[in-house]
Amino acid sequence: ALHVRYADEAVCIGPPASTESYLRIDKIIDVCKKLDVDAIHPGYGFLSENSEFAKTVTENGIIFIGPSPEAISVMGSKLAAKAAVGKYDVPLVPGTEEAITDIPAAKKIAKEIGYPILIKASAGGGGKGMRIVEQEADFEEQMDRAVSEAKSAFGDGAVFIEKFIGSPKHIEFQILGDQHGNIVHLFDRECSVQRRHQKVIEEAPSAVLTEEKRKAMGEAAIGVAKACNYYGAGTVEFIVDEKLNFYFLEMNTRLQVEHPVTEEITGVDLVKEQIRIAEGEALGYTQEELSFTGHAIELRVYAEDPANNFLPDIGTLKTYNRPQGPGVRVDDGFEQGMDIPIHYDPMIAKLVTFADTRELAIKRMLRAIEEYDISGIETTMGFGKFVFNHEAFISGKFDTKFVDKYFEPSVLEGENKKEELEIAGVLSAMMVKESKKANEQGAQQVKSGTSNWRKRAWRNS
Ligand code: ADP
Repeated sequence: ALHVRYADEAVCIGPPASTESYLRIDKIIDVCKKLDVDAIHPGYGFLSENSEFAKTVTENGIIFIGPSPEAISVMGSKLAAKAAVGKYDVPLVPGTEEAITDIPAAKKIAKEIGYPILIKASAGGGGKGMRIVEQEADFEEQMDRAVSEAKSAFGDGAVFIEKFIGSPKHIEFQILGDQHGNIVHLFDRECSVQRRHQKVIEEAPSAVLTEEKRKAMGEAAIGVAKACNYYGAGTVEFIVDEKLNFYFLEMNTRLQVEHPVTEEITGVDLVKEQIRIAEGEALGYTQEELSFTGHAIELRVYAEDPANNFLPDIGTLKTYNRPQGPGVRVDDGFEQGMDIPIHYDPMIAKLVTFADTRELAIKRMLRAIEEYDISGIETTMGFGKFVFNHEAFISGKFDTKFVDKYFEPSVLEGENKKEELEIAGVLSAMMVKESKKANEQGAQQVKSGTSNWRKRAWRNS
């Protein structure tokens, strides 16, 4: 892996399966002690939100680059988090504040809130353990399913009720806190384009927030962080309805995948800040001193097939050439010829563009997608192109239902056909002799979603 090649020293913890390597607290601690390691950065997957890990690291005299184990544990439980923020002025989605034990009482509350409602697992994460109940007659059945799902996925059957917000936006605030009690936010990110309740496109700032709303949400986010004496980098997530009413969803007690968009608009290196904070340094700036400029967008380039329900697509990166130029940032861990392994999240790269305005950032993104040359596996790039050309995205009037509402695999085929036609036009105009043969070759590449055939055809001619 690229990050291993960059490292001065690397130690193999175990085989690829994460239960034998990335999740082995005991082995990781052993190696760190042998090497006299000062600090551990847990990244954003695996053990990064595991309070037991944070505790063990600290108990072994190693610095954990992240929040306290107590903060991780409070925010790791959605019910404990709701209880903790009670003292602060943080709006919560209407619902039950404790785990459901009494079904008739819960049904009464559900009726008051009004159907549809959502049954959620307190220990839930990654979009799992959520059930929508459309009407009272389905309550018990969905409740039973939610409890058994929560038990098997998280080992904790506690579930609660929330009002189901029909067409919500997902807007979150980046938090930084130091170990001296200072907490600031670094503004908002909108992550409403999701598949399977999981983010795939993010941007900063949100296209729809007014200055007033941004201020109110920022203050609520700081309230959430204060409620657990937070230090380090963290994210407070809100669900926002059509009228821009906002409700606290949860706090992620780690760096987020989408942190680059915040870095681009604020100029703050979040990982560097995490390390400074872990060393005990004070933030050194106040909320009033922070500002942002321009607009940044991120597309998660996953090895997934959007035409096939976004299923992971493993294989070898036959070609892999990154886009370049002003306002383009690619955070990746792969190079041409490398395999995408089946063991982990299939993210190849984060493609980020930055510009003075949202409109220009979108244009830059479309240009970068055209330039990004990946073959050998299916990716989310063709899907990205569809989204960035879509009126709903361009106008900012979209919500977490974007994929359900607008996306059909056939739109990608349409994209490809359009490209084929354009290509055919260019070729005939240039009177390329072997146009038939070229078309056949091109059509094959076009199938892979984002075609670089036109570029190649030009080069060959
Ligand atoms: P997880 O911890 O599993 O990621 P979250 O509480 O963060 O769960 O919710 C994930 C996503 O599920 C949200 O971004 C949103 O799309 C949807 N969601 C969560 N709560 C609600 C709600 N009350 N009404 C409608 N959609 C919701």
